Amino acid sequence: MVCQSKFVGGLGFKSLAHFNQAMLAKQAWRILKYPNPLLSSILKARYFSHTSILDVGPGHSPSYSWRSILWGRDLMKQGLIWKVGNGNTVRTIEDHWLPDFRIKSYSSPPPSDILNVPISGNNCQDDLFWSRNNSGLFSVKTAYRLTLTSRDIPSSSSFRQSKHFWSRIWSSSAPPKVRHLVWRVLSSSIPVASSLFHRRIIPSPICPICHMKWETVEHTILECSGAKKAWKHSQFFDFYVRNKRLNIYDFIVQAIDLYDKYNVYSPPTGCWKINTDAGIRNTAKKHSLGIVVRDDCDNIKAGLIVPIVGLVPPEVAEAKAILTALSWLQATKLPVTVL
Ligand SMILES: [Zn+2]
Repeated sequence: MVCQSKFVGGLGFKSLAHFNQAMLAKQAWRILKYPNPLLSSILKARYFSHTSILDVGPGHSPSYSWRSILWGRDLMKQGLIWKVGNGNTVRTIEDHWLPDFRIKSYSSPPPSDILNVPISGNNCQDDLFWSRNNSGLFSVKTAYRLTLTSRDIPSSSSFRQSKHFWSRIWSSSAPPKVRHLVWRVLSSSIPVASSLFHRRIIPSPICPICHMKWETVEHTILECSGAKKAWKHSQFFDFYVRNKRLNIYDFIVQAIDLYDKYNVYSPPTGCWKINTDAGIRNTAKKHSLGIVVRDDCDNIKAGLIVPIVGLVPPEVAEAKAILTALSWLQATKLPVTVL
């Protein structure tokens, strides 16, 4: 999991196994495109004298090197595309010559994609190119990316697995240790009792603090009596109260959003700054206004939460928050210079 891209839920570490396959794919590419050098000639004579490296199987008692090259060949085949010339060597059904898919049947009229394929003309030979590079030439870097592609494509439409979601997390202004904690929470890498129990490391999944429920990540951060105490004494208690009924993923997204909202722009030196926000809870038919005042060192100097019964459109709630903030400033005479 840590070898997946940071934008699909991993940590972006290089996978040596996949890098190795990409390097072997390069050997296969050389044999395919440069058949005359000595090594290519020997391998052809030994293993595929009557066919192509693209179609040959391992054969009888293959060497370790040849089996390794075939492993790289399998990866290379995924990235190859035919450039159609006279069409003599392209197998219409089996070969990859359309940019995005293979033809499965001629039962329906050819799709427009077929008509859009550029062709070289009758006098040119068909040729194979590496589809992952604009130059058409193989590169280990793009082959490595290809090895990860099948795992990089989200297996469901889950928000947690989307690039948009992870870009949001990794581009946050929160400190790196916080972003990595978020990653550990979302990837279930926190060693809570329930996961240790499933791995048969400890005998019980029950929370060792409250002894009431299974210790899941959600329980540890949001539900446990120990967590509630910690929230109560933190400056984020209001945020916790407003969002504690969300699932842990939505809770974290809200927290990151709020953090960035209040931390991207610190007040200029010597100034105090006021920030406003509004939250709407459709299920409870309520909305609330939040106001916070900070100094130029990001110390919170004052705050206000105004819960209101009834629903209003989000833009109206935001406007009400600003209006309330201005009225409150007039009344309190706080030395705020930036809104
Ligand atoms: Zn507990």
